Amino acid sequence: MSAPERPIRTRFAPSPTGFLHIGGARTALFCWLAARATQGQFVLRIEDTDRERSTAESVQAIIDGMAWLELDADEGPYYQTERMDRYRELAARLLAEGKAYRCYCSRERLDQLREQAMAAGEKPRYDGHCRNLSEAPSDIEPVIRFRNPDQGSVVFEDRVRGRIEIANSELDDLVIMRADGTPTYNFAVVVDDIDMDINLVIRGDDHINNTPRQINIYRALGAEPPEFAHVPMILGDDGQRLSKRHGAVGVLAWREQGYLPDALINYLARLGWSHGDREVFSRDELVALFRIEDVNRKASRFDTEKLNWLNQHYLREGNPEQVLAELAWHMGRAGLDAVHGPALADLLAVQADRVSTLVELVEQSRPFYQDFESFEAGAAKKHLRPVAAEPLAALREHLAALQDWQPDALQAAIQATADELDIGFGKIGMPLRVALMGHGQSPAINQTLWLIGRERSLARIDQALAWIAAR
Ligand code: GLU
Repeated sequence: MSAPERPIRTRFAPSPTGFLHIGGARTALFCWLAARATQGQFVLRIEDTDRERSTAESVQAIIDGMAWLELDADEGPYYQTERMDRYRELAARLLAEGKAYRCYCSRERLDQLREQAMAAGEKPRYDGHCRNLSEAPSDIEPVIRFRNPDQGSVVFEDRVRGRIEIANSELDDLVIMRADGTPTYNFAVVVDDIDMDINLVIRGDDHINNTPRQINIYRALGAEPPEFAHVPMILGDDGQRLSKRHGAVGVLAWREQGYLPDALINYLARLGWSHGDREVFSRDELVALFRIEDVNRKASRFDTEKLNWLNQHYLREGNPEQVLAELAWHMGRAGLDAVHGPALADLLAVQADRVSTLVELVEQSRPFYQDFESFEAGAAKKHLRPVAAEPLAALREHLAALQDWQPDALQAAIQATADELDIGFGKIGMPLRVALMGHGQSPAINQTLWLIGRERSLARIDQALAWIAAR
């Protein structure tokens, strides 16, 4: 056995410019798992320095999404906007040490540089024009640039991607403080990860090009860089980058569509991480088995069918407390009053096998909680015919006399009615189903009677008999 890994202290650092989408949620999950798996810590940091795009609603959506997924942070949320003085302090230090400099280049000059580079087929980069200015123009508010080393290269061992090496000649002097005194992402993230003692940065591989620049900043600040793990992106089921088109909206929209937090967690964990060819993992099992090195290097594809399959699994086998709480939430949203109808645990026991989401479950359960005034035309025409009147009436007698309103006794009552009239079970079953539900779909008919309860069932049979008589 290898030695136990040192505790990972990591962070999830979303920019609050939108929902907590699926990609962000998976990054948060990997961070949470890496921390829990090593008895480490998981920090939440809101990267809100982009004041134009950050909103309080997005912050709330991120916090709510994580709470719903039960990804609890040990620390935070910290907010970058509350740490401005610290960024200014360290930028001033880099200036004083000659590791950063003020840059007065105009937008026009920078645009021109970019155009020239493009025309020459080169990567646009800042040319270091202000590196050694002897005199500063007085009429321009400068930005602060990091003086990137000219020589050598940056090498790091990414815990997902392996060894990565970038020559410093590929990197230019990036802006670390804007003219308005706010830090750029690459600077703030380094200052924070140093101050917050982060030893493993887990994030999307869209940031992989930033990492060598950040490593240079760590060194300039006299800090040892943390380790990095860049996780690949998630593609839609068509192989394109996941976007709104795929319904890649916030995590809470998945809730609205009837998915369970544990199902989504299991699904997201498997989206890019694997342990043999196993699919089902409880949270505890994930914590026990997760290693960041086992995250795939390749992008993963979203697979709605698999998510539906897992969701059904958790509807049946998941933690009843969670499932029932979510079910109650959906009942409320659908305007159904769970007090006047079967207990949610009974409903779940009957319906869980028949649906893959809670939205389907609730929609198919409406007649258990709500009376209806008319029958679905086709079903009524086909099954509520005059020949159905006698069996329904006979069954009503049996049901009214029944002591024990339980599935077995109900089954026996239907059977007894069929035997008495010498007809097949189906001759009663379908009319009864339409009488009870208003349409032709329901769980097993004895379970349907059981859920609807005595009073309601008898009243609905009467309603059907009246409808037949009036036909
Ligand atoms: N705020 C960055 C983002 O949302 C975080 C990147 C990082 O984890 O360093 O993409």
